[in-house]
Parts: sequence; structure tokens; C-alpha cells
Amino acid sequence: MNYIVFDLEFNMFFKFKEGEYANPALKSEIIQIGAVKLNEHFETIGIFDLIIKPVIYKRINPYVKKKTTINTRQVSQGTPFVQAIESFSQWLGEDSVLCSWGHDDILGLRDNCLFFGVDTISFNKYINIQQIYMNQGGLTMQPSLESAVEGLGIEKTSPFHDAFSDAFYTSEIFKKVFDLSGKSIINWEKEQIENELKIRELKAVLDQAPILCPQCSRIIEKDKEITKAKKYFAFGYCTECKLQIRHVSRIVHGGGEYCITSQNSIYKMEDFGGLEGRTN
Ligand SMILES: [Zn+2]
Repeated sequence: MNYIVFDLEFNMFFKFKEGEYANPALKSEIIQIGAVKLNEHFETIGIFDLIIKPVIYKRINPYVKKKTTINTRQVSQGTPFVQAIESFSQWLGEDSVLCSWGHDDILGLRDNCLFFGVDTISFNKYINIQQIYMNQGGLTMQPSLESAVEGLGIEKTSPFHDAFSDAFYTSEIFKKVFDLSGKSIINWEKEQIENELKIRELKAVLDQAPILCPQCSRIIEKDKEITKAKKYFAFGYCTECKLQIRHVSRIVHGGGEYCITSQNSIYKMEDFGGLEGRTN
């Protein structure tokens, strides 16, 4: 079994001209794939580094350019995504585990594959190296790749935010933190499908949480409601306590699964819509 430690760089929408809009079906488009292949003894047996030609966001967002130093001219000469994924999946070979620093890259890889109709990559064996690093250090906040490199005393030999260089650093971290029991390998695809179903279920009931007055615990009437992607706000007035109440419900990932958490707080009129106020 081989470990494929990969990293991606993405380009996203930037309003260069009036009248330009993002494509809601693909918010982040892959512009670079970098990967290191390790065998079961953690020896490097292959490398992969490819610039991808974007077709949705052809001009590089200035923030992306600043971070990655990849420019529009470079990507315009890149490999088309479908072709790139074809050679990437051939390079992956049989029986490999995908590994990355955090969930964003595997999520982005799957989104791009779905968008371009490519199904040659299997997402059923995955290791989140950032999660292992966090578990070992008892960390609750997601650390940056650079901070982990520093924390483990790995020598910095190339700049960060280059997909190949980040994949290389991630593989060096992996060699130091991997636990040989193999219990960190998850069926990512299956978990992802379950999570998406759960989020859809929760979204359907997100606006049903009542506003409770934190002072007297009565259910009060909703005057105003705002629903966002994973957040729901409602406002009301407790006629008993003569208080303005602000309610927020969120879909959060806690204790290994998605759930809704609700908060009701008192706020003064001048704080309307603000974050201040007493929380129950
Ligand atoms: Zn009350």
C-alpha cells in the first residue's frame, strides 16, 4: 500500500470587470496539483507536479497570485483538468491512500472531479494528516502547515503555498506523526455522503428553533428572520421582561457529528444586529 500525500492550489472568482460573476457550481478551480508518493516504509517512490489550465476562472485572482506566485500566463499553458486527472490517477496506481493537510484539498479535488465529470479517483481511503497532528498535540484550532513544520523542527527548504512544496512538507510531517495501527485511514467518500445528508436534514429544520427569552424562558414571537447557508437569525421582544432578544442557530460539527446549536441573547436597541448582549 502506498501513501499519496497531495496538495492543491486553487483559483477563484475575482471581479475584474463589472458584470462578471462567480460560477456557483464551482467556487474554487484547481490550478496546481503537487504530490509525493511514499511506500509502506515511508520512502519516497514518486513525485507529481502539474499546473492546470483553468477554464472557469482563467485570469488569476490577485490574492491567489500574491500567495502562490502563479500567474495567468503560466496557467494558460497548463494541462487541461481532465487530462491532468487522467495522468494523476494513473500515477496513483492501485491500492493507494490519499493523504492531505486538512479537509479542504480533498473536498476541492472531489468538487472539481464532479464538476468536470471525472470519476477515476477513488476517495474511499483517506488520511487527514492535520487531524493526526492535532490529536497528538491536543490542539483544538487548526494549525497552519508552516506552524507544524516549525513545531516539528523540519527544515524549510522551499516557499510555502506551492502545491508540490506543501505536499513535500506534509509528507515530512506524516513521516513524523503517523501511527502504524492504520486506524487514521477513513472512508472519506462514505463519511462525506453521510455528512452531506445530515447537513441537508438539519438545514430543513434550522429555522424551526424557537426564540426563548434567556431571562424568563418563555417562547416569544419572531419579528424578523434571516436564513443563511448554515446559520439562522431571528429577533423578537419579550413583553414580560421588556427585552429585545436575538436568536442564532448554527449547524456545527461537534463531538464527531453535525448538529444545531442555538443561542438566545438579550441586546439593547442600540446594539441591534450587533454581537453584544448577554448570552444564556
Ligand atoms: Zn422574558
